[in-house]
Amino acid sequence: MRPHPRPWLREIRPYAPGSQDAVDAGRLASNESPFEVAPAVTAAVTAAVRDLNRYPDPYAEELRSALAVRHDVAPEQVLVGNGSDELIYLLTWAFAAGGSIVCADPAYQLDVLAAEVAGARVHQVPLVEWRHDLAGMAEVAAQLAYVVNPHNPTGTAHDLGAIRDFVDRSRADIVVVDEAYIDFASVDSAVPLARDGEAMVLRTMSKYHGIAGARIGYLVGPAEVLDVLRAIRSPFSVGTLAQAAALAALSVPDTRRGREVVVRNRGRTETLLRDHGLTAVPSQANFVFVPDVDEDLFAESARAVGVAIRPGSSVGAPGSVRITVPGDAGLPLLADAVARYAAAV
Ligand SMILES: *Cc1c(COP(=O)(O)O)cnc(C)c1O
Repeated sequence: MRPHPRPWLREIRPYAPGSQDAVDAGRLASNESPFEVAPAVTAAVTAAVRDLNRYPDPYAEELRSALAVRHDVAPEQVLVGNGSDELIYLLTWAFAAGGSIVCADPAYQLDVLAAEVAGARVHQVPLVEWRHDLAGMAEVAAQLAYVVNPHNPTGTAHDLGAIRDFVDRSRADIVVVDEAYIDFASVDSAVPLARDGEAMVLRTMSKYHGIAGARIGYLVGPAEVLDVLRAIRSPFSVGTLAQAAALAALSVPDTRRGREVVVRNRGRTETLLRDHGLTAVPSQANFVFVPDVDEDLFAESARAVGVAIRPGSSVGAPGSVRITVPGDAGLPLLADAVARYAAAV
């Protein structure tokens, strides 16, 4: 064996996952749902086990149809993937390999990583007041443009008018609007643009729908773009149990209540931080971004009370932390962590 990784892979900074070194209610590093898996999801997955001798449905037809109905698009305008991450890789390989992408700085890590793997140039445009500089990004010619709305790691969002304006003006061939956190936001979704074939909208079931472990993401957009991705994808990337979990999670009736809890606790988290003299960037997502802190001391103070948060360096924003909005059981733990940091700094 004489392994020689492709030379451009030497530059790659691998994805740094959030710490899981915490008590259950204190796992605030990965923007997961604080709620237990719904009984209907457990039942659906249990029932699907008996089909595990068979390959999964390669196109996840039942799930795709349910998603198409939900978003009022044709099934051909939906592609389900093994998490959004698979779809980001497919988009990059199909449309940007050897070319370039444009995204924010800081960006969602996977957008950058997938581009680096495919040998695409990455043009990052700094945020302005923690929001995408859409005017600046629109001027960059690239094969792919990513707008994360609301943004990760800052939680800021643009309204649909601004997104529409960006799509109209962008010099990029394809605009991808990543709406991983849109269900927690007060701005409208860009799905109408995807329906009309003007943009791609990327969604995940890892956050609001609370099944991060199942790995389900999907794209909504023009069929001719999705056909290219379908032609190059790994045909059975979305497993039988994941498809069953997603279909059941879509019909769980009380996810609205989950949203209310997250929005309420988000407000409490922001207040808690400000009461300790810290800055909390107003968030439209299920996490809060805290700039101008000693991130290592903050993470250490949190770890001491069983809480894991995300140091900014691992999400492209050194000197900050990103804290997932806790459930009710996690709020007092977070209060301890913040008090401990404020006393130590
Ligand atoms: C969490 C997240 C996703 C979801 O990724 P999955 O692979 O579907 O779990 C996508 N985009 C952004 C910006 C995220 O923060």
